[in-house]
Amino acid sequence: MHDAIEKSFLASLEMTRFKGFLQDHHYISNQYIFVAQLINLILKWYCSKTKKQHLVSVYFERLENYCRKFYALNIKIFNWNSVNSVQKYNQKPDLKIWLKNPLSILAENAGGGILLEGARIIELIPSGKQPSSEYDSVFDASCHVILPGLINLHHHFYQTLTRVYPQALNKELFPWLKTLYPLWAGITPEALRMATRLALAELLLSGCTTASDQHYVFPAGLENAIDLQVEEAQILGIRMVLCRGSMDRSEKDGGLPPDSVVQTCDEILADSERLIQQYHNPEEGAMTQITLAPCSPFSVSETVMRESAMLAKKHHVLLHTHLAETEDENSFCLKTIGCRPLDYLEQVGWLNNKTWLAHGIHFTDEEIQKLAAAKTGISHCPSSNMVLSSGVCRVMDLEKAGVPVGLGVDGSASNDSSNLMQEVRQAFLLQRLQHGSKVTHLDALRWATEGGANVLRRPELGRIAEGMQADLALFKLDELRFSGNGDPLAALVICGAHQADRVMVAGKWIVEDGQILGLDLEQLQAQHYREAKRLQEK
Ligand SMILES: [Zn+2]
Repeated sequence: MHDAIEKSFLASLEMTRFKGFLQDHHYISNQYIFVAQLINLILKWYCSKTKKQHLVSVYFERLENYCRKFYALNIKIFNWNSVNSVQKYNQKPDLKIWLKNPLSILAENAGGGILLEGARIIELIPSGKQPSSEYDSVFDASCHVILPGLINLHHHFYQTLTRVYPQALNKELFPWLKTLYPLWAGITPEALRMATRLALAELLLSGCTTASDQHYVFPAGLENAIDLQVEEAQILGIRMVLCRGSMDRSEKDGGLPPDSVVQTCDEILADSERLIQQYHNPEEGAMTQITLAPCSPFSVSETVMRESAMLAKKHHVLLHTHLAETEDENSFCLKTIGCRPLDYLEQVGWLNNKTWLAHGIHFTDEEIQKLAAAKTGISHCPSSNMVLSSGVCRVMDLEKAGVPVGLGVDGSASNDSSNLMQEVRQAFLLQRLQHGSKVTHLDALRWATEGGANVLRRPELGRIAEGMQADLALFKLDELRFSGNGDPLAALVICGAHQADRVMVAGKWIVEDGQILGLDLEQLQAQHYREAKRLQEK
């Protein structure tokens, strides 16, 4: 009994020290500490009232284990050496803030701004009006254009390590991939960590609040790739959809990638299920979600495609893959599988409203109708399609037919930039070229916001309206390129905005004055550059 009480006292002491330690580092986790202290008090009481000391020691062990895990997590965070302090955690999330009188806003009847409470938008205020309820603070948005936070549907963060790699320059998709696979086989966990952090920083600074990444290269030693990506996204505070990619069809089985970067079907499925159970949050407002994302028909076996679809159905998660990106892919599918890519997709159980496809360029009219009937989504990646000369996605036709369409920057090695706001402009220009003045800047902004949310089945994201998540991107028009503009919203797209001044995710400011809070970009760049050079010189 005495031992148990002493242990309890020590645990309380440890908690208090913990709290001081966390506060010193501007890293408040009061809820956790409160719960641990409450458990402690209950244990003390239990100790004094019963003689079941054996049970008490079991509980103590559990509590201690939790403490250790939490401590280890903090150590990891503070070793995260390009972060000085994570100030955003100091914000009190339940306060009401009025973003007042924006220069312009992508919302109906909100000229007076919007009122936020915690993670949500609770009121749209018409011009010249005040919020209808009390508020705690005001942010003067008179120099800002407010957009819903942009949603990125397709990326491969690791490819920031091989941007404009000389031997891969000026190549189309298949030869481009074959040049880069051997390099990607050498990616280490530290290199992926830097690539993830850098790509997320680029996305955030371009106004992106929900990022998705498809990681499909798992060489030996990189088995926990998705876990470390989850950590990075959580620390930065961006909303993240992690697409657990996979490849099991290497050169020896008639696929494109070398043996060194593929996994077996069993490894892929076991890890996919583990990740869903560990990280997927199905709830409204979720910050972390997992989807299953076999890479493409030319790198994945039919078994992995079918089994992934079944696993996704079992756990109610989405599916994502590349499809209809090039004519080479059509020829490959016809030759090896005996049908076109979309027919193959249907055969393996993927043609439904839980699937979204990167690129979706080479579809016939009939195939577009099929996609529309199934409500399968498309991530249009204009820069990548232009760089790799893949073709032009029929965005207007897809949308008209009822297919959900959003935007993606795609992997950095094909786009060479992770700037989603620039991608809005690219999408606008490319569709303008095809369809003339029918395409407006508002179409392009819709694809990057509401369109992306529809594709991800996240109705609480992508729009500025009452009840929606407070994910916002605020742009200033104080650069030379905007001077003289007559329409602030059109100026963002047509004059070419590329950096947000402020970004908010779930009611918390992540970017202020063009800086990600707590992140030393110069140091991050040096670390990332070092890892990229190391990989390219292997
Ligand atoms: Zn891609």
